[in-house]
Amino acid sequence: MRIDIVTERYYGENCYIVSDEKSGKCAVIDPASHGIALEVERLGLKPEFVLLTHGHFDHIGGTDEFLEKYNVPLYVHENDAELLTDGYKNASSLLIGEAVTVSAEPKTLKNGDALSLGSLEIGVVHTPGHTRGCVCYFCGDAVFTGDTVFAYDRGRTDLYGGDETTILDSIRKLMPMLKGKTIYPGHGPERKF
Ligand SMILES: [Zn+2]
Repeated sequence: MRIDIVTERYYGENCYIVSDEKSGKCAVIDPASHGIALEVERLGLKPEFVLLTHGHFDHIGGTDEFLEKYNVPLYVHENDAELLTDGYKNASSLLIGEAVTVSAEPKTLKNGDALSLGSLEIGVVHTPGHTRGCVCYFCGDAVFTGDTVFAYDRGRTDLYGGDETTILDSIRKLMPMLKGKTIYPGHGPERKF
């Protein structure tokens, strides 16, 4: 498994390209802007699908553009599908004053789902609290935690669907599963647990 990272300038959000070196197949996690398609092209990879850790605007802004170039399925947890078409719910109208949306129709995920990517398997763990549909994606020793857990912090809970008690419950459930793994968060550096 190989992981490439594209970090966006304004909100510092991390977009990840996870690839199976044997087959050249890759998954794109949180395509925030056009930079991710250029990077996939530069690396010569074959995208299989796009995964969203959650539906906030700063993680989805490049989704339509990416899917116009690469016609692959888009996955998001069933609770966050509504965020993709609603600038209030995905916080764009509130925080940047214009609605960022996704027009592609997503396929929905739930806790315990698994997706195969060449010889790799990506497992889905539902970790609500930052939004109602946050998930962490487990792949080998890597865990893509979105805005649930950062290297030394956790996600905010003051936006639509956020809930303090719920994120603390999610983190309590998640911590034992992170032992020995490296987290790749939605913002900031990775960290080995
Ligand atoms: Zn977020």
